[in-house]
Amino acid sequence: MGFDTFLGNAQTVEAVREMLVGGRVPGALLFTGPDGVGKKTLALMMAKALVCERGPQDFCDQCAQCLKAGQMLAASQEDLARRRDIKDSARRVEGLVYFDLQLIEPLTKFILIEQIRQLRAVAYTRPFEFPRRIFIIDEAQAIHWQAVDLLLKVLEEPPDQLHPHMSQFL
Ligand SMILES: [Zn+2]
Repeated sequence: MGFDTFLGNAQTVEAVREMLVGGRVPGALLFTGPDGVGKKTLALMMAKALVCERGPQDFCDQCAQCLKAGQMLAASQEDLARRRDIKDSARRVEGLVYFDLQLIEPLTKFILIEQIRQLRAVAYTRPFEFPRRIFIIDEAQAIHWQAVDLLLKVLEEPPDQLHPHMSQFL
């Protein structure tokens, strides 16, 4: 288990690990590259390393925190799948609840403004189970144009430094 299981892109993985070990993880990180190189996988690994009891230089996938992270990701994925099946556009985004570790993906062709609104609403609140909130936005190019400014505002005004947590946008 751990970063060693990531195939390819050794340089990128090394850069990520250096950031983690040095405690220099920025508030937002953008992983770019062609499909299939493992951008999302690496983001998920990084998220686990940030919460793992044996972290942050790696993650074990066995401790309570890693298991919790896995459960949150699975629940996010189930919720996204369920919502994609809803035809009615208002009902599709009704009652969005985000976990401390939240995966955000397009619900339609787009990542909808309601999804980013919810991100903004919880970004400034205290996380429940992890020391910080982590959002993984997959296919960020699909963020609806109406939601881009909103997301930028959150990135420009990071959550209150007085609270003992930082939000992480991966
Ligand atoms: Zn762990």
